[in-house]
Amino acid sequence: MENVIIIGTGCAGYTAAIYTARANLNPLMLAGTQPGGQLTTTTEVENFPGFPEGIQGPDLMMKMQEQAEKFGARMEYAHVEAVTKNGDGSFHVQIEGGKVLETKTVIVATGASPRHLGLPNEKSLIGHGLTSCATCDGAFYRNVPVAVIGGGDSAAEEATFLTRFASTVYLIHRRDELRASKIMADRALANPKIKPIWNSTVSQYLTDEKGEVRAVELLNLVTGEKSELELKCVFVAIGHVPNTQFLNGLVNLDENGYIVQTRGTHTNVDGLFAAGDVADHVYRQAITAAGQGCAAALEAERYLAH
Ligand SMILES: Cc1cc2nc3c(=O)[nH]c(=O)nc-3n(C[C@H](O)[C@H](O)[C@H](O)COP(=O)(O)OP(=O)(O)OC[C@H]3O[C@@H](n4cnc5c(N)ncnc54)[C@H](O)[C@@H]3O)c2cc1C
Repeated sequence: MENVIIIGTGCAGYTAAIYTARANLNPLMLAGTQPGGQLTTTTEVENFPGFPEGIQGPDLMMKMQEQAEKFGARMEYAHVEAVTKNGDGSFHVQIEGGKVLETKTVIVATGASPRHLGLPNEKSLIGHGLTSCATCDGAFYRNVPVAVIGGGDSAAEEATFLTRFASTVYLIHRRDELRASKIMADRALANPKIKPIWNSTVSQYLTDEKGEVRAVELLNLVTGEKSELELKCVFVAIGHVPNTQFLNGLVNLDENGYIVQTRGTHTNVDGLFAAGDVADHVYRQAITAAGQGCAAALEAERYLAH
């Protein structure tokens, strides 16, 4: 019987592991298919406190892992398929292959995966002129043209934010009007730096000799015409998918599949806590995820003490 199983090893999971390990709870981390989480997919991280020169995303996550393991946290490279609660209040955590682990508490820190278009070279371009986080990467693209793909609130908000840096922000949307709330859409479209490209999608990312995005091929969905648009970065803002499928109705989720936190990192299930992007569709930052990982660890510790 484990004291605490932490599902997910992004910023939230590793921070929860550091705290629970230092509290002598001997935590077990289950890493899933992306050990280190989303930051392993990016290059420079400039906004994580403590690194005034910036740090590469994978390096930051290696340091977090090292810090968690230094205090005794154990890590298994296992993907969780189901979590169920037992009559005595403990949990069964089923990992691929059918093995079942038992634990007194669970911290779910499985993040939310950004949606992409599904184009062939897309994954390899993340961090090389393709991203899904304007707050994180906007400041790298000063006085150059960039594009946002999407038509919802996030797309409108990210496009507006990016006008602080970019020379032009193309807003590429499949339809001829934004899906965003009227106030957000109006604000974005009134901004002289934002140029909407309606009824269009990106059909190809084009790269330079260094492998960085240099342009996109646009497909007009009404006329079928193709054209090339030069830019330095594409911000894909077509939503996120919270990784909560394995919870199978055990925990209350909102209409988009994010875990609903009741009080702090508590959920409607006693002993099961949620931390990071899996429960946060508002901030989605490494430091906020880490902060929630810390809070979930302290709550799990208190729960076990009682
Ligand atoms: C391209 C990009 C650049 C970014 N740049 C920055 C930046 O500069 N600064 C910043 O603050 N933020 C940045 N972010 C956002 C930041 O990465 C996230 O906010 C942060 O990673 C969230 O941490 P998390 O621990 O909640 O989840 P994640 O990092 O998403 O980690 C989720 C973990 O859960 C695991 N998992 C998922 N499902 C299962 C399962 N069923 N079983 C077991 N494990 C599972 C995964 O393998 C992974 O280890 C960026 C994001 C992206 C995509």
